[in-house]
Amino acid sequence: MTAKFNFFSGNPSLDLINTEEMRRGKRIDSLSSQEDLVHWFQTLVSIGAFSPEQFGDLGEQPDESVLPVLKQFRATLRELFEKTAASGSPPVNLIEPLEKIIENAPLSYTYKEDRLIPVPIGSFPSSLLSLIALDALDICTKDKLQGLHRCENPKCIWFYLDFTGKRKWCSMKLCGNRMKASRFKLKYEGQPEESANP
Ligand SMILES: [Zn+2]
Repeated sequence: MTAKFNFFSGNPSLDLINTEEMRRGKRIDSLSSQEDLVHWFQTLVSIGAFSPEQFGDLGEQPDESVLPVLKQFRATLRELFEKTAASGSPPVNLIEPLEKIIENAPLSYTYKEDRLIPVPIGSFPSSLLSLIALDALDICTKDKLQGLHRCENPKCIWFYLDFTGKRKWCSMKLCGNRMKASRFKLKYEGQPEESANP
């Protein structure tokens, strides 16, 4: 695995929008080639965000047709999460397109090793989008919504879920240390890192 992707949450919808990041004031797209897409997809499978069962035991992988569709979807999701994080509730007009995406590959379920796994019924691209839409809608439900946060580093555009109320940054290693170093150096000097932040 290359180090191109720096941050995974395990939530496919967040891990899709977080393929865009700010570096030195520029928006960088980590999902810029077919190779990136396959790497991103395989990483999500390897961390358990997707299960092989959800894609016919991985008889298929994303092909070139998936990338532009996924990027368009990423823009919709970013708008959804930005507006939702800002207002505290998801805009209805952005929820409906997600429901439509799931309609294209509706979900069946399989029970495996005490887990209930949603399995989309449809082509590979439709199934991929359906699972990401499901994840995004799940984050927009009452219990999860309070955990949705945008990184407090104003230069960062990453989102994450946190239910402890303690975490302020996407990643302690990335923005946490950066912010501490630049803004709170004296105050925090010599203190250990907050363990709530990965
Ligand atoms: Zn950040």
